[in-house]
Amino acid sequence: MGVVKSAAAGCALSNYDLAMPARSENTLIELKIAGRYRLVPIWTTKLKFEVRPSPSFDKRAWKLWKPILLLLDEVCKKEKLKVDWVRIHSHFNLKGDIPHAMGWWDHEQRAMFLCHFDKETLLHEVGHALSSGYHGDPWAKATARLYQKYLSGKELSAAMIHLGHYLAGRRVYKKIYGERPPKYQERPSMWLNRKPS
Ligand SMILES: [Zn+2]
Ligand SMILES: [Zn+2]
Repeated sequence: MGVVKSAAAGCALSNYDLAMPARSENTLIELKIAGRYRLVPIWTTKLKFEVRPSPSFDKRAWKLWKPILLLLDEVCKKEKLKVDWVRIHSHFNLKGDIPHAMGWWDHEQRAMFLCHFDKETLLHEVGHALSSGYHGDPWAKATARLYQKYLSGKELSAAMIHLGHYLAGRRVYKKIYGERPPKYQERPSMWLNRKPS
């Protein structure tokens, strides 16, 4: 009889599995965020900060944001940084310009706004969170340290060259490399003509 019972249980379990799609950390769940019900992947609920996608956020952008937000979580722990919430954007198939910055930091709300989904933009904003005085020396020093700690290879060299776009960043660059940074070139938005995949 015991055998029959366990066979039945096994059968019931497999029916259940067929009926319910497997939940993974990428499964979207409905959560109340800043007073509104939003769909967010389960992995966002395990971060040290709240993730607030912009009102028109395209769910196909979650995979672009995942490595960036996981890095921010790691940086928060390692740098003992307190971030309350992070606003993220999506602008698939962008034509032309975006009327806002690639990212910004709000000291009062302890909130980060990210449009560009790259590590450099994230660390630039973390540099603001860890310093004061906008793009002055404290920010440039903090940001160069973060780039050197969390980036490597081409990503690091590109970020350091972009840092040289700021006057204080140029000073830090010269101190580290003993020469002036190459000329800064304006970058187009990462969303320009980007297709969802
Ligand atoms: Zn944006
Ligand atoms: Zn800045």
